[in-house]
Amino acid sequence: MLNLVLFGPPGAGKGTQSEKLLEKYGLVHLSTGDILRGEMKAGTELGVKAKSLIEAGNLVPDEVVIGMIDNKISENLDGKGFIFDGFPRTQAQAEALDKLLVAKGTGVSVMLSLEVEEEELVKRLLERGKISGRADDANEDTIKNRISVYNQETSVLVDFYSAQGKHVGIQGVGEIDEIFEKLTKAIDAVHVG
Ligand code: AMP
Repeated sequence: MLNLVLFGPPGAGKGTQSEKLLEKYGLVHLSTGDILRGEMKAGTELGVKAKSLIEAGNLVPDEVVIGMIDNKISENLDGKGFIFDGFPRTQAQAEALDKLLVAKGTGVSVMLSLEVEEEELVKRLLERGKISGRADDANEDTIKNRISVYNQETSVLVDFYSAQGKHVGIQGVGEIDEIFEKLTKAIDAVHVG
């Protein structure tokens, strides 16, 4: 299986590049943010509980997102692999993902980390907020909180995957197609076929 962790701060372009990657490689897209927004929209118990955390730009508890990912992996084991987008976001999530994948006889192939400066992230997210309808994109304080949560809890995963020899840093500024090409080169270096 080809299992990609597409990593980076909010606004780095993970969603945009995921769409292109899953088309090229025929992978299943697992975005915990998308799944959580679906639950919110459907008004499920989980969605109702997650809403205030998401709208404040804070993380949803590890066990909630790990449970969601566990289910989705089990449902799609007959596919070619997965793109994990917005997951893992903490060390506990990364450890849980390794365990889940090993239990299924597979593992993370590569972690692709999109690198974008903070000023550019804020600009992009405020622009996206005008059309996305996402409450967490609408206000600069919430955006700054999301970036600070990323810096405090998520960015350590660069070290986690570096220690496994799986981290590749990719400059996330420039044309979408140029960034996509850099991603595909990094993927093709670890994956044949
Ligand atoms: P995203 O669409 O990836 O930017 O996620 C939007 C929001 O959903 C985040 O700010 C968190 O509140 C929540 N969320 C998404 N993925 C995770 C995760 N892996 N762990 C905890 N919270 C998450």
